[in-house]
Amino acid sequence: MTEVSTELIHHPYRPPEGFAAPQPGVFKASTVIFRDVAAMRSAEWKDKSAYTYGLHGTPTSYMLEERLCTLEGGLQCLLLPSGLAAIANVALSLLGSGDEVLIPDNAYGPNKALAQGELKNWGISHRFYDPMNPQDLAAKIGSRTRLVWLEVAGSVTLEFPDLCELVRVCKAKGVVCALDNTWGAGLAFAPFDLMPTASPALGVDISVHALTKYPSGGGDVLMGSVITRDPALHLKLKLTHMRMGSGVGANDVEAVLRALPSLALRYRAHDEAARALAAWCQGRSEFAQVLHPALPDSPGHAHWRALCKPGMGGAAGLFSVIFPARYEQARVDAFCDALALFRLGYSWGGPMSLVVPYDLAAMRSGWPAHLKPGTLVRFSIGLEAVPDLQADLAQAMRVLSR
Ligand SMILES: *Cc1c(COP(=O)(O)O)cnc(C)c1O
Repeated sequence: MTEVSTELIHHPYRPPEGFAAPQPGVFKASTVIFRDVAAMRSAEWKDKSAYTYGLHGTPTSYMLEERLCTLEGGLQCLLLPSGLAAIANVALSLLGSGDEVLIPDNAYGPNKALAQGELKNWGISHRFYDPMNPQDLAAKIGSRTRLVWLEVAGSVTLEFPDLCELVRVCKAKGVVCALDNTWGAGLAFAPFDLMPTASPALGVDISVHALTKYPSGGGDVLMGSVITRDPALHLKLKLTHMRMGSGVGANDVEAVLRALPSLALRYRAHDEAARALAAWCQGRSEFAQVLHPALPDSPGHAHWRALCKPGMGGAAGLFSVIFPARYEQARVDAFCDALALFRLGYSWGGPMSLVVPYDLAAMRSGWPAHLKPGTLVRFSIGLEAVPDLQADLAQAMRVLSR
């Protein structure tokens, strides 16, 4: 006869099989119970044929991984606690002392900071290349180059590079290329199939996605994914993932699973609103330049048009403006402060529109030649009504003429 405390833990009740709700269950576990020692010894977590430990996967995390593979056209997926952790996992898997990584000058800032901090301390060198000049990338790939990062559109400045040509350069030199695909979200273009008619297929080796942005869609989850099509490359990334203990929480996984069915609808809505507002800003004399890949005079517009699927919502919800030098920083700051619906805050992809003034000169090797001089402000467009957002921009612009 056991006591009640023991009975509550070793309870015999099992609910009936066949609970066929469309939503997946949320399985939370560190420990997974094995039937016997033989099952424990033979369980294999690397190929998802079994379960061994919560950190290595649950039915909930496997389900999200498979759906993300479908979204991006990959075959294997890892989940990590943030987009930045996904970036770091790729770097730590593929780079060792004496190796070099190449990063576009307009990459997501913390990717560059990782190279300048930890990677440098561990004897891994880095160089920044001009993503708008594939020859610059080709010239910088050397015998020690083990990884090339790609990013479209550029972070904050939204230049659109010739992604196919950059990938071709990496393939010709036999170097692994990893794309930060957060902006494209698996919807604007197919990262593993950049030219659907090409044979063999032209695609990136690794796609990293900050699920924090559009896949979460709520501004309430931090998560990242690393997707591949090559089992050997995936295993390398997965072993690092396992040794670093980069698991994710089941409730967060469920939040992304819940938001995924509306991803394409939301992405298109963000895209349409951002295009409308960017076009409106371009018609205003207060801005020296409006940066949005779908605007004909935005840097790399022709590459955007060639790659992104028409009508699919292929331009995300971000754009930036450059205020001319006649507005000093304090005036631009006052504009940002005067906005009421656009709130000051980092990240994007959620329902609320956000604004961030950036010190671009401090973020780049030099002021990019294709950008007008001035002060840059980035908008991320949420899901509010476009006329309300436009009226908010217009009322805040009144502080510029004061
Ligand atoms: C936000 C972002 C990341 C990092 O994602 P976190 O989940 O915030 O760490 C990486 N790359 C790009 C392009 C991003 O916008």
